[in-house]
Amino acid sequence: MAENTKRLYWENPYRREFEASVQALSRNEVVLDQTCFYPRGGGQTSDTGTIDSVRVIEVILKEDGSIAHIMEKPLTKKVGDKVHCEIDWEKRYRTMKLHSASHLLYYVMQEVFGREVKPASSGLVDEKKDRTDYLFDTSIDQGKLKEAERRVNAIIKDAREIKTWSDLNQSGKRMWKLEPFPIMMCGGTHVKNTKEIGQVEVSRGKKPGRGKERIEITLKEQTNAITTTVEKTRIQT
Ligand SMILES: [Zn+2]
Repeated sequence: MAENTKRLYWENPYRREFEASVQALSRNEVVLDQTCFYPRGGGQTSDTGTIDSVRVIEVILKEDGSIAHIMEKPLTKKVGDKVHCEIDWEKRYRTMKLHSASHLLYYVMQEVFGREVKPASSGLVDEKKDRTDYLFDTSIDQGKLKEAERRVNAIIKDAREIKTWSDLNQSGKRMWKLEPFPIMMCGGTHVKNTKEIGQVEVSRGKKPGRGKERIEITLKEQTNAITTTVEKTRIQT
């Protein structure tokens, strides 16, 4: 049985590069002794990047606790070989910001709309946006949604510390805490301070079904590099 892969993305979510040794190989799948690559789960997209310059296109957590990197093409390595790995940092960092913002919005939604407004599922977050479905038995008040956005941005600006840790009393489950709100359980990757998120936009997405509303969060673009990418994409389409 494969041993649990050591999860470097929890020890230090800011680490972009690491060395590891190959534990198992099968066709396009590689298992390492340790990894910074976040495996898809808990609503968070998986990391992408490279292992010895070969593209990692998807990362999954297997039932035995090992993490499998799905490669674009097979890696010409054998068990025990050392490899150099790099994650796509821009994708990961944007995902981290949006995932942390998603937790902020969760608290604020209950403040603004009432405690019965709870997430209907774990949502979906990647480098572009966070989408979370909330239970709503009435139609959504756009003014209140703007107020929720304003409050999330105020918490971000307040530069509050975000703490994450493994709770050994709860079989190592990952915990998340931002004062003064209650602790949440979350195995995702997060920024250490709310100010890193920058500012966000909160909007209503496509209605997911009766009694639910999809709320989306996007990052307000701050760097020229990202604006240029967005413009390029527009020209191509
Ligand atoms: Zn989370």
